[in-house]
Amino acid sequence: MNLILFGPPAAGKGTQAKRLVETRGMVQLSTGDMLRAAIASGSELGLKVKDVLARGDLVTDEIVIALIEDRLPEAEAAGGAIFDGFPRTVAQAQALDAMLETRGAKIDRVVRLKVDDAALTARITKRFEDQGRPDDNPETFKDRLAVYNRQTAPLLPYYEGKGLLTEIDGMGSIDAVAAQMDAALDA
Ligand code: AMP
Repeated sequence: MNLILFGPPAAGKGTQAKRLVETRGMVQLSTGDMLRAAIASGSELGLKVKDVLARGDLVTDEIVIALIEDRLPEAEAAGGAIFDGFPRTVAQAQALDAMLETRGAKIDRVVRLKVDDAALTARITKRFEDQGRPDDNPETFKDRLAVYNRQTAPLLPYYEGKGLLTEIDGMGSIDAVAAQMDAALDA
């Protein structure tokens, strides 16, 4: 199964993805994690994207599409991918469909975690205190939310139109969200 976890920053996509890796053996493909790893390693890619991430903007479609394409065989071998933080633009969604199609695969489900802006801001304030991720600072987070609403939320009708979208309430505890996630995937 190929699954997209969809939602704004701090909706809990990464947490739920990690649980699905453990329970279902799928592979988490988080473009945010891949970009942060590139920055930490000081690679050419890392140097190129460092400022973009710090500002809370999106890196180019070409960069993230290439990162995902590289990892598709590994996910395929494991029986499926959990796309976390990708796609974030319509161009990325179209590229993903095309890449999967050439491999004889497709997106099977898109699960949207719904969390209101006040709860997201409260979560991110705590994550900033705990982890100190620079783009979690309150000003940059506001920009990241705006980028989500402007560039990523328009993907919802794209997937709804394909009949792939399931919405779940992301406001509860990790376990409560996980239970809804399992129900959505096993339906
Ligand atoms: P995330 O950890 O998913 O919130 O991503 C952190 C940052 O990485 C984002 O604010 C963007 O700067 C960049 N990023 C991650 N995924 C993408 C993507 N699919 N397209 C463009 N930029 C991305």
